[in-house]
Amino acid sequence: MAGLPGPDAVADYRQHTRRPVGRLIGMTDIEFIAIDPDRLARMREHGADEHGNPWTPRTAEGWEPLRCCLRVAGPDEAIALITYSPWTAPDPWLEAGPVFVHFERCDGYPTPGDYPEAFRRSRSMINPFDHAGARAYQHITFVEPDDDHAAAVRRVLDAPEVSHVHVRSATAGCFTFEVRPVT
Ligand SMILES: [Zn+2]
Repeated sequence: MAGLPGPDAVADYRQHTRRPVGRLIGMTDIEFIAIDPDRLARMREHGADEHGNPWTPRTAEGWEPLRCCLRVAGPDEAIALITYSPWTAPDPWLEAGPVFVHFERCDGYPTPGDYPEAFRRSRSMINPFDHAGARAYQHITFVEPDDDHAAAVRRVLDAPEVSHVHVRSATAGCFTFEVRPVT
């Protein structure tokens, strides 16, 4: 059978070191990561986000997805709209875009082992990256509101060549949260 690509064969322009498939063995071995609260604290102290936008309060209407604690804002909560990038160093794959966060420091995401409930019923893109930081195009996955989002993320992360994923809105494109295997 030599020469026939397997079902998870990768594009031949990039060869990966193959490791055993199925590195995820339980339900508590991945973590759903909100924006680093200390990073947000530095922006609040500075009075601006990392892209120079003033840290300005706005009143939530009650639908805004908050990336500091991975829930939807309630009506009249004080929030801020900032430009955020999950990357912290120069990188050709870097993307930055608008996200809502609490205006004041919040308690963060309390259950990092669980898929954030507020984002389960959404059209989402699971955007995977390999161990060199490049987008793992062959594992890009879109999920619909009725799909099992947690299972889809787990399936993508189970690929040995995938290091971590960013979950994005498939309708607006905005970054929602990161998911990584627990190390
Ligand atoms: Zn928050």
